[in-house]
Amino acid sequence: MSWKTKSNLAWLGALPGVKEDEPLASRTSFGIGGPAEFFLELARPEAIEKALDGCRQRGIPYLLLGAGTNLLVADKGVEGLVVRVVNREHEIDGTRVRAGAGLKMMRLARIVADANLRGFEFAIGVPGTVGGAVYQDAGCWGKEMREVLVEAEGFVPGKGRQRWTAPALELGYRTSALRDGDLKGALVVSATVHLQRGDGEEARQLMARLTRERSETQPIKTKNCGSVFKNPPGDSAGRLVQAGGLKGARKGNAAVSTLHGNFIVNEGGATAADVRRLIEHVMAEVKRRFGVQLEPEVEMVGRWR
Ligand SMILES: Cc1cc2nc3c(=O)[nH]c(=O)nc-3n(C[C@H](O)[C@H](O)[C@H](O)COP(=O)(O)OP(=O)(O)OC[C@H]3O[C@@H](n4cnc5c(N)ncnc54)[C@H](O)[C@@H]3O)c2cc1C
Repeated sequence: MSWKTKSNLAWLGALPGVKEDEPLASRTSFGIGGPAEFFLELARPEAIEKALDGCRQRGIPYLLLGAGTNLLVADKGVEGLVVRVVNREHEIDGTRVRAGAGLKMMRLARIVADANLRGFEFAIGVPGTVGGAVYQDAGCWGKEMREVLVEAEGFVPGKGRQRWTAPALELGYRTSALRDGDLKGALVVSATVHLQRGDGEEARQLMARLTRERSETQPIKTKNCGSVFKNPPGDSAGRLVQAGGLKGARKGNAAVSTLHGNFIVNEGGATAADVRRLIEHVMAEVKRRFGVQLEPEVEMVGRWR
């Protein structure tokens, strides 16, 4: 039975601050995708938790949204409720830092450098939020979230607030219990990381150098979602795409970057269907030529049929 009963629609429509048919394209780094049927942007974890509990009780589908930097939203949009998580508080206690899930990783990288803490410089390369980074163990330049994470506070609809140690979250290369395991559908409320005391100026200089180097090798100023594919064991997806002669391949207004093979760029007006067809084309070609099955790192969400 569809969840779209009169009473569920009335409940969604009465959520404080809710918007209907709210465009999502501008809330993703790809700049692509249809609207959310119902949309909330919430900073108070209690309000997010209440909305998610209600959805669970009523069988209403929901999607948590961070900065939208790892999502391909379908052209037909997203069914049910989309909740954008924007709690951005942070607390520094010695070498421990607790950050709200909605805080951007890049912002936190600067905050902790200014507090003379080291070990979080890698986060300057991750444009998503702390919640999104925990969700799939984001990482950059050989360092990942799991190396600094102590614990996360979370919420499981129907079960309430929980505290997860890093091992309980089963973080691994672009995976976790939240993305692929028992905690699917759970909310990350905040995360605590453990860093080292050090020279903030050195951290800032390192971040500036890494950012400069990256802008020369990756199309980071275009509309994209970062790496489209996970690196297969012992190899790099970008290398395989390049070796397959697929740089510059295109479907509609979506093109494989000529700068880096693991990036797909929305050149303006690309649809989600264009990007998906291009992803499938690249996967098929890499499989045919090298026998390697690439796996998307980007998540495809919403109504594809
Ligand atoms: C230019 C560019 C460069 C990038 N470089 C890197 C890189 O070097 N390394 C890397 O790892 N990634 C990189 N990315 C990808 C992206 O930034 C990361 O995957 C990031 O962790 C996604 O966070 P987000 O807040 O944007 O999540 P979103 O894209 O909004 O969501 C992704 C998933 O996380 C879930 N989620 C978000 N917030 C929460 C929450 N609070 N609780 C539970 N689930 C949540 C969503 O439901 C969704 O399933 C890059 C992206 C871009 C555009």
